[in-house]
Amino acid sequence: AAAGAAHESVNAAQGPAGTPAVQMRGVNKSFGAKAALIDIDLSVANGQTAVVIGPSGSGKSTLCRTINRLEVPDTGQILIGGTPQPTGGKELPALRADVGMVFQDFNLFPQMTVLDNVTYGPRAVRHQSPEIARDRAMDLLRRVGVADQAPKLPAELSGGQQQRVAIARCMAMDPTIMLFDEPTSALDPEMVAEVLAIMQSLSEEHRTMICVTHEMGFARHVADQIVFMADGRILEQSPPAEFFEHPATSRAQEFLASVL
Ligand code: ADP
Ligand code: MG
Repeated sequence: AAAGAAHESVNAAQGPAGTPAVQMRGVNKSFGAKAALIDIDLSVANGQTAVVIGPSGSGKSTLCRTINRLEVPDTGQILIGGTPQPTGGKELPALRADVGMVFQDFNLFPQMTVLDNVTYGPRAVRHQSPEIARDRAMDLLRRVGVADQAPKLPAELSGGQQQRVAIARCMAMDPTIMLFDEPTSALDPEMVAEVLAIMQSLSEEHRTMICVTHEMGFARHVADQIVFMADGRILEQSPPAEFFEHPATSRAQEFLASVL
């Protein structure tokens, strides 16, 4: 998914042309004595797919969570569409709407129907009318192949179906950027491909995405850039062909040897 210049914008809150969708500058985050993020500098252009890989505990989830301020950085700056992240107040829900997140364990609202899961945010945060929100939600549920599940509760769906609903719920907000934190790690193997296929189609539409995954085939074929993390640091950032053929650091070489 090369960052095309001529594609139609799908994002709601972009900065001026050329402004990265996300910039992290000198971000550090510790939990007690544990440094989870160390001197993180990361820039993701509009329309790009960045795939974050690295060993367990290397800070991948914390990186995602700081971008929509589920975690607050200790130092450094995070810009969304060129604008510093809000630090609190009424702007936080707006940030979380602009920076959508899909989690490993789906995080659907368990007491709401599938349809209500998808319409809730657009109604509450985007102030859409019930009719408009429902029509859009049904379009999105059709797109991810679960429209027939709309009246059910999440617990009645398979894991793969729930994750597809979570992606539809995220898309319904028209986010500037979508974060995926190991979205297929909790799925049975036969459901992984269907979720990866949806993510690939979003990437091919030049939606801006940061995906944490252990699916190396997806990383190699869908990423515009690979971000390799270890021990809280970004050790490598390069196009997938370069990263997979010529990993520059011994940590990346060891990691690839362990997963490929
Ligand atoms: P990854 O997603 O790459 O597995 P994480 O970002 O979850 O890594 O974690 C990075 C490090 O920060 C780990 O050592 C983890 O134990 C620690 N950590 C993450 N979140 C918390 C937290 N809420 N409290 C304490 N330690 C945490
Ligand atoms: Mg994680």
